[in-house]
Amino acid sequence: MKHFPAEQLNKFAEALLVATGSSSREAAIVADHLVQSNLAGHDSHGIGMLPTYVSSIEKGALVPNAEMQPVRDHGAMMVFDGRRGYGQRLAREAMAVAIERCRENGLVFMGLRNAHHMGRIGSYGEQAIAAGMVSLHFVNVVDHRPLVAPYRGTAARYSTNPICFAMPATTGNAPILLDMATSKVALGKMRVAMNKGEEVAAETLYDGCGRPTTDPSVMFVEPYGAITSLGQHKGYGIAFFCELLAGVLTGGGTIQPENPRMGGIINHMATIIIDPQRLVDCQWMEQEITALVKYVKSTPAEDSELPVLVAGEPETLMRSKRGCSGIPVDDTTCEQLLASARQVGIERLMAEDLLYYRSIP
Ligand code: NAD
Repeated sequence: MKHFPAEQLNKFAEALLVATGSSSREAAIVADHLVQSNLAGHDSHGIGMLPTYVSSIEKGALVPNAEMQPVRDHGAMMVFDGRRGYGQRLAREAMAVAIERCRENGLVFMGLRNAHHMGRIGSYGEQAIAAGMVSLHFVNVVDHRPLVAPYRGTAARYSTNPICFAMPATTGNAPILLDMATSKVALGKMRVAMNKGEEVAAETLYDGCGRPTTDPSVMFVEPYGAITSLGQHKGYGIAFFCELLAGVLTGGGTIQPENPRMGGIINHMATIIIDPQRLVDCQWMEQEITALVKYVKSTPAEDSELPVLVAGEPETLMRSKRGCSGIPVDDTTCEQLLASARQVGIERLMAEDLLYYRSIP
């Protein structure tokens, strides 16, 4: 395990993305998104995703520099098609349009379909927060085999379908940002655990024969296993609604098997944005949220070392920690990154130089 300053990983990711054909602008946006995910503590959606993107490009499942296309536009309701472009860039651009529309209308539904992996959905919630807006995001994941077993099932039938709810920050509080997979764990966390040689908690996984296991490699080698749903029937119900809202209402399609699969990671996202100023007095809203956060956090902690937090706080804390001590990346992931660099024509020595310069053992 080595530790890397964020700027170093950024440079490496940008160089690799440019080598795969991205414009320097696209490479900068995607690299920044990935490294910000690492800084927030979500290594599952950080630079470790780059080898997957390289293989998606090879399959034609990810198209660098693709521009989104408006499909429907009714003022406060709109749908864009991402045409298999980088989700991190397209979702950012679609959110910028939707936020502007929300300033005019107070409420917006924005659908973005057919974008390749949008990464950490929380970053779009942060975009809304920065504009003083509230946002709700529902995402489904298609184009590859399903990963998550429905409640009472032992084989996968849908994916890790993330949701995100974002509320503007109040004075003295971190932004309130709930951003999570609706499976018990995100797939990327299984990849990180496998690369580190770690087992996962009981009741998280089924193996390819439908038996409970703690071995994360069942998600990556045939016969493939399945992740369990979050909170039994409740998480399963929310994940199912991600299929309905993101899969059906954007026109992108659900994970049902009659839809074609190219082996990439395609996200469809249904986003609702609300301008709170149209509804309530902002000063009152701030005071009310501050009082709520204070009240909830005043509950006695079960373990004094683990205080009660509000969604979004763990990421804020991790950002300041990793901003100082660097981003840890395990050796397997480093090797995978170097192999991908070679695949796209970057010489091993140059890639090592790009990656390891200023790394801390
Ligand atoms: P997680 O389980 O680490 O955290 C989920 C949420 O819980 C966060 O909002 C966090 O602030 C909050 N949280 C964590 N600890 C808390 C505590 N003690 N008290 C209060 N709140 C707490 O997240 P995850 O489910 O592993 O998802 C990781 C990332 O994966 C997310 O950013 C998600 O968007 C992303 N994801 C993306 C896709 C995709 O296809 N693009 C699919 C699945 C997941």
